[in-house]
Amino acid sequence: MNDNNTDKNKTKLISIIAPVFNEEVVLNEFYYTLCETLDLLPHRFEIIFIDDGSHDNSLQIINEFQKLDPRISIIELSRNFGKEIALTAGLDHCRGDAAIIIDTDLQDPPELIADMLREWQNGYDVVYAQRMSREGETWLKKFSSHLFYRTIQRVAKIKIPEDTGDYRLLSRTAIDAVIQLREQHRFMKGLFSWVGFRQKAIYFHRKPRHAGTSKWNYWRLWNFALEGITSFSTAPLRLASYLGLLTALSAFLFGLYIIYDTLIWGNPIPGYPSLMVVVLFLGGIQLISIGILGEYLGRLFDETKQRPLYLIKNYRSAENDAEKQSNTGNPK
Ligand code: UDP
Ligand code: MG
Repeated sequence: MNDNNTDKNKTKLISIIAPVFNEEVVLNEFYYTLCETLDLLPHRFEIIFIDDGSHDNSLQIINEFQKLDPRISIIELSRNFGKEIALTAGLDHCRGDAAIIIDTDLQDPPELIADMLREWQNGYDVVYAQRMSREGETWLKKFSSHLFYRTIQRVAKIKIPEDTGDYRLLSRTAIDAVIQLREQHRFMKGLFSWVGFRQKAIYFHRKPRHAGTSKWNYWRLWNFALEGITSFSTAPLRLASYLGLLTALSAFLFGLYIIYDTLIWGNPIPGYPSLMVVVLFLGGIQLISIGILGEYLGRLFDETKQRPLYLIKNYRSAENDAEKQSNTGNPK
């Protein structure tokens, strides 16, 4: 029985999808830790490194790995497209019966892969790793992330699990579903949830980065939050209308009060300061509402251009090396 299972597992191919952007300091450690885990598992593996336009030695390092390890494929993007797009490139090219998306900075512990595969074999299509702790992160980052997940859960009509990154396993069914979604603004966590299927959380403690620095800063996090909300909800648009309604109503009530105050008590109409307050307040609300409209319009603009999501400079698949290279127009 056990032997039978092992044989079945051997025929299953699992794709490891690892986006790389300037990770020269951690790549060695990542690769060796990953291999340690994979060596204990009965499945066949392909490891897809996506070089997202790194300008350090990352590409040379993964090229060296590939020379020694026939399981490795390398997708070299033409420039830095961002992690979401890099992941998508990996998913588009993976051939596995399941794929596991993992960061290369060792914040996603490879040890979890075994648990993910177990849940997958139990019939789950998406197995995501949920953080129980976040060592090495400031309280501000924890707080803002907490707030973001709470907000998006409320405004988006789909359930996006909290404290969950991109570290997850997708079954072939889920991969095929996700790669059909070709939107330019890719809020991956949202897309992974949107596809549905049977989803399961496994829990882990998130460690600080092994080395190097995070590519995230607060400005990028803010934009990421905007991306998430505007990609999955039109609630802000509605909020703008309600804000307008609310101000109009207050203005009306205030008007009534002024009439009452003047007619009954004969108080002189207060002048310039109150006028300025009202004008500025209204102006502010109008600009905010236009801004919200603009966010959506801008996204619409990006989508209508229908550009390809990414461009590949070079693709060196684990198999068919020579043939793939001749397609890239990059003789070597
Ligand atoms: N990454 C990428 N392209 C980018 C930024 C990041 O492919 O433009 C990769 C990076 O190499 C790492 C993963 O995405 O493997 C997570 O990045 P990072 O650690 O900077 O994000 P954080 O863990 O802080 O969310
Ligand atoms: Mg990280």
